[in-house]
Amino acid sequence: MKDQQKNINDLLCQALNVQIEQGLGEMIINPQAMMPGNDSKEPITVVEKSDNSIVISLDSNDDSVEPAQYDSLEEHYKDICQCQLCSLGKTRNNFVYGAGNPSADLMFVGEAPGRDEDLKGEPFVGRAGKLLDKIIEAMQLKREDIYIANILKCRPPDNRDPLPEEMEKCFPYLKEQIHLIKPKIICALGRIGAQALLNTKTPLGRLRKIWHRVEGIPTLVTYHPAALLRFQKYKKDTWEDMQLIMA
Ligand code: SF4
Repeated sequence: MKDQQKNINDLLCQALNVQIEQGLGEMIINPQAMMPGNDSKEPITVVEKSDNSIVISLDSNDDSVEPAQYDSLEEHYKDICQCQLCSLGKTRNNFVYGAGNPSADLMFVGEAPGRDEDLKGEPFVGRAGKLLDKIIEAMQLKREDIYIANILKCRPPDNRDPLPEEMEKCFPYLKEQIHLIKPKIICALGRIGAQALLNTKTPLGRLRKIWHRVEGIPTLVTYHPAALLRFQKYKKDTWEDMQLIMA
């Protein structure tokens, strides 16, 4: 099985190298072809960008990005900040919309607010948030340069995992934020956020190091900063993912 996957990877690399040498802009691999871990059974699209970076799309989103329904993030926020679409609306202290540069090139997406975020009404302000700040600094960026949001805008009680029905109800809000911000790159933080964003059940380890697309935007998956606080060994992998983004 491992040999088979290696062969597929080798063939894919060869095909991409030929593509780059020929200077062709776009390649669609056999639409019926499946990548290991592509549970969605969707076509794989490989696009070579003008800077020779390569985007491999495994998700069902195509390039036809819907236009934003609102004129600004403020207008959107005002319209949804009293949301009671799911039961989390009753238990939250604060609605955590998102924060950062409304024209950011890079957007981080996590899963849901935790205790500190719920109390402050801001995403990533607890210990995990401080670690994310350090990662952003190491990327030679500041928080004001990027935008941070979550799939859910309200804290699940006791920091339990978000329920599928909660994410389904809340996801359109994030989509609208993406349409308004139009980042060049999205970075999904952690398994739950990544799986919700990419509409897949593929484990995080197999989602990393591949450029996906969300609403037509190149998207990379890495570990959640909270996981880095628990497991130091993920720090090196996370930094490699950040270097891919910077490149
Ligand atoms: S989590 Fe999302 S859908 Fe549920 S109440 Fe909060 S904003 Fe509304």
